[in-house]
Amino acid sequence: MATTSFTKKSLGLETAEPAVTPPPASSTTTSFTKKPKLGSAKSKKKDIPEGVWTKCNKCSTMIFDKELDENLKVCTRCNYHFPIGARERIHSLVETCTFEEMNADITSVDILKFTGVASYTNKLADYQKSTGLKDAVITGLCKIGEHRAALGVMDFSFLGGSRGSLVGEKLSRIIEKATEKNLPVIIISTSGGARMYEGMFSLMQMAKTCGALAYHAKAKLPYISVLTHPTTAGVMASYASVGDLIIAEPGAMIGFAGPRVIKDTTQAELPPGFQTAEFLLDHGLIDAIVSRKEMKQQLTEYLSYMTEGRKKAVAAAS
Ligand SMILES: [Zn+2]
Repeated sequence: MATTSFTKKSLGLETAEPAVTPPPASSTTTSFTKKPKLGSAKSKKKDIPEGVWTKCNKCSTMIFDKELDENLKVCTRCNYHFPIGARERIHSLVETCTFEEMNADITSVDILKFTGVASYTNKLADYQKSTGLKDAVITGLCKIGEHRAALGVMDFSFLGGSRGSLVGEKLSRIIEKATEKNLPVIIISTSGGARMYEGMFSLMQMAKTCGALAYHAKAKLPYISVLTHPTTAGVMASYASVGDLIIAEPGAMIGFAGPRVIKDTTQAELPPGFQTAEFLLDHGLIDAIVSRKEMKQQLTEYLSYMTEGRKKAVAAAS
């Protein structure tokens, strides 16, 4: 670091130098170099005010943002599922005014005093400010259809949905609450995996959450795991893959390591559609693919089916 600042200082008089470094420095230089690039190919974009339209990543259709929001962030033309925030998702699933958030005030701690490009403490503060979330998961009790349920919803916009101690703790607590209150658990995952800033503490959450789920299963209570784009690594290798019922959104990328890593390790060509929800449905890892717009109705039906069966079993046993 010291070397960098020293070099910059010594070359301070040369006007050409700042242009070599990619993002920062004078804004005039940046906009000058950008203009000719965008000019001919994307001249249409200039006429469209920002934040009004969104281009679909799959079919390239321009969709009116309001329309996209009303359609739960699903492309109206090709059914592409855009990322959706945890709060929006909860709103789309639970009955009005029934969500009772739990452990809303606990926050992550920088146990290792980790510093990479930025310190973990600063990263947490930045993400809390930019997302309005305390961390990458929201948990609570709610009602879906006529069913009371414990719900955990992850949010990819907070540090890539990474699962640190806090995510593990909040999920474990909501699972334990469900066991105590005889409720089903639904966890909606989206994650890049373990939170590396927390090292081993992050990895321990795999065992902790699965331990809580084991007690929940022992009480013969149902657990539905919903996988959304992307659900990978340590989250997929723990609570996300042990649902009694595992469902996914269309087109979601689901896996442990990324396809490039697998390809390099195995030195084999990967089959088409590898690690997509559709591929995993064909190969038996997941039970169903459910569109976001049908999620609430489907979850209600699954819960009816799973809790009715339990009620009958309890009645038969007594
Ligand atoms: Zn589309």
